[in-house]
Amino acid sequence: MLVDATMTIRPGMPVWPGDPEAGIRPVCSMENGDGCNVSELQLGTHTGTHIDAPRHYLADGPGVEALPLEALTGPCWVMDLAEVDEEIRPEHLQAAPPCDRLVLRTGNTRRRLAEQDCFCREFAHIGEEAARHLVNGSVRLVGIDYLSVERFGAENSPVHRILLKAGVVLVEGLDMRQVQQGWWRLTCLPLKIAGADGAPARALCERL
Ligand SMILES: [Zn+2]
Repeated sequence: MLVDATMTIRPGMPVWPGDPEAGIRPVCSMENGDGCNVSELQLGTHTGTHIDAPRHYLADGPGVEALPLEALTGPCWVMDLAEVDEEIRPEHLQAAPPCDRLVLRTGNTRRRLAEQDCFCREFAHIGEEAARHLVNGSVRLVGIDYLSVERFGAENSPVHRILLKAGVVLVEGLDMRQVQQGWWRLTCLPLKIAGADGAPARALCERL
């Protein structure tokens, strides 16, 4: 079974406060007599389902085009944390098997936050202790089902810094409605944009 775990990019979709709204504008339009349709996109680098590159928080860190492809594709443990609506703590992660890739399916999916038109400031997020716990393990990629791994308004963004410094690839804004707990093959490929701090990605999950 192949599941698309990507948010659909559309005008009016929820975006992080201060980030650009998503938009698509016709440049050539057959309706107006042009020979074909061509559009211009307006996107932030962290729109919808996206990857955070180290450069998001580390000034000299690699951009999204330099991320290791091996981290972005391969077996992934999807962990059900449907009862968690706030901070994810180390004890929530105890039951995860050793894995290179870990996606957290939290109360954000149950609450269908990604389908709402407005950004929601209260969402399940990785706490600082859980971030330290993760970098002590084998994990190379961590994904979550809303627009940030970190609490809204976290001063100095310690969770991003801990994970990105350790070389963990972050996938945010995953649509996990159809992806239950278990082993999946994740393929998550960000647009290859030189020097970018992040990029929208298409994320697929295939049942293993
Ligand atoms: Zn982020």
